[in-house]
Amino acid sequence: MYNVKLSCEKKNPRKVRSKNQNYFGFKKVKKYLSKMGWNVILSTFPENVLDFDDKIIKINNRCRHSTKLICLLHEIGHILLARKKYYNYLYPAGCIEYNKSIRRKCDRINILQEESAAWDIALLLAKSLKIKIDLDKFSKIRSSSLLSYARWADKNPKYGNSYL
Ligand SMILES: [Zn+2]
Repeated sequence: MYNVKLSCEKKNPRKVRSKNQNYFGFKKVKKYLSKMGWNVILSTFPENVLDFDDKIIKINNRCRHSTKLICLLHEIGHILLARKKYYNYLYPAGCIEYNKSIRRKCDRINILQEESAAWDIALLLAKSLKIKIDLDKFSKIRSSSLLSYARWADKNPKYGNSYL
């Protein structure tokens, strides 16, 4: 009887703490968004969606808390970028409808620049909201996302013509 371990003993306290951190971080970011009139929907759709018309961000609920938080911060990065006075000047390709094929390489590179800027803003936002994120994970997600955009921008046939 005394050999039975309590289930909480098996858990890694660091893991539990970071899981809670991501969960509360996500809640904090959601609150920040709602003050701007935006809603977050957790969906089963594999891609995260930013809907400027209805002010809705859809985040893939199948991901881990840490990934959801990082992706949500990135999507807010896009919202904050679009609010900037010089957005149209800096990112003219961002004004092209998303589902259109973007023919010119310079426009695709411009979208890659915008993506990169949205990641920078995501990082700064986490800092200003005092939200702890897994920086190593952030770096991995950012690099894999930017690499996809870079391949698409370079029109590797494997990545097709569509907007990612
Ligand atoms: Zn993006």
